[in-house]
Formats: sequence, structure tokens, C-alpha cells
Amino acid sequence: SLGQNVIVIVPGANLLLNFEDLKRASDVICKAKVVVCQLEITPAVSLEALKMARANRVKTLFNPAPALADLDPQFYTYSDIFCCNETEAEILTGIPVGNLEDAEKVGRMLLERGCKLVIVTLGAEGCMMISGDEPIPKHVPAGKVRAVDTTGAGDSFVGALAFYLAYYPKLSMEEMIRKSNCVASVSVQAPGTQSSYPYRKDLPQDLF
Ligand code: ADP
Repeated sequence: SLGQNVIVIVPGANLLLNFEDLKRASDVICKAKVVVCQLEITPAVSLEALKMARANRVKTLFNPAPALADLDPQFYTYSDIFCCNETEAEILTGIPVGNLEDAEKVGRMLLERGCKLVIVTLGAEGCMMISGDEPIPKHVPAGKVRAVDTTGAGDSFVGALAFYLAYYPKLSMEEMIRKSNCVASVSVQAPGTQSSYPYRKDLPQDLF
């Protein structure tokens, strides 16, 4: 139906990325401000990248996509920020996420599993964040927009969040999430998966 996505995954070269490649990239990883991992490359390789980052005090941002029911529990302990959507949340916790309260339950469960901060993205509703430091869950709403294609909205959100973590580390997490919602909500307003920043001058320009 209009505005909803259907996704076919073709892993292609992703699954060829191995520990050797990771070792070759270790210089870059260890000097980075933030490392983003997800599950489109071999999970063990992703996990090793998170460990490498953590050992060097690099912030780790993990997005468990595509979702795996039997995710290695170390992914929780090695994630500074664990960011999942409603589907991933349900596969990981068994809790179907239909509203903010469900997302809060998921958040608390994932904190217990060892994440420092959990974000559950909620499509048009924006997202929920909860952290060990601030255990009162916060709803960060997204702006109202006309969605035509939500494919890649989650990636757009995670990419934007990584950008703010790296370049604007002094912003509060809530502010980073608000801005990331805004970037992701731009991505759903056009077909395809690109935000089209900074080319579209008709869009809000206060994101950078
Ligand atoms: P995924 O693309 O992984 O399914 P979501 O659907 O939760 O993830 O969307 C990720 C983010 O994209 C949301 O947190 C929100 O910021 C933005 N977004 C998605 N759909 C909409 C929408 N209809 N209106 C506004 N923002 C949206």
C-alpha cells in the first residue's frame, strides 16, 4: 500500500567482508568518533568491529537490521547506542510494538541486556529513547509530513545520528534525535532513499 515499504535483501558483496578486511581498517576504526554497525555484513564481523571501537573508546552505534531472533547477546553490551525499529524490537524481545508504552517496555528490556542507551524508531511517531543514565523514557516526535516512500528511513535516521554524534557531540541526545527525525522525515517525502540535503532549499536548513 502507498507509503509502506516491501524490502528484498540481496547481500551481494556484503557477506564477503571478513576479519582480514576489518584488521586492515583498524587504523580508521580506532581513530573514529563513532562506529556504526548493523547486520548486513556477517554478524561476527560487525561484532568484532564494535569490540575494536569500544577498546579504543570510540562511540558505538548499532542498528540490528535486518533483525535476527538469535542475536549474540554481546551486541547489547558493546552498543553505546542500540537503535531498532518496531519490527526489530519485536523480533529481539517478543514484544509487539504498537505504541509508545510497548516501545518503553522494549527499551527497558534492552537496557537490562546491557545497552547504554536504546532508541526505538516509531515511523511517523518519531522515536522513543531511554538510557541507563536517564531511565525515564522520552518520546521524541517527528514532524508531520506527507510520506510517499519510507524505504531507507531507518538508515537515514541512523546515518544522521552518527553525523551529529561525530560533528556535534555537545548537543544533548534528545536534540540529536530530534534533528535525526527531521532528516529521516525528509527522506520519506520523495521516492528512493536519499534525503536530498543540502540541495533542496525548500526544506528546513537548520539541521547543520
Ligand atoms: P524503518 O525505516 O527502519 O522501518 P521507521 O519506520 O521507524 O524505521 O522510521 C525511522 C525514522 O524515520 C523515524 O524515527 C522518523 O524519524 C522517520 N519517519 C519514518 N516514517 C515517517 C513518517 N511517515 N513521517 C515522518 N517521519 C517518518
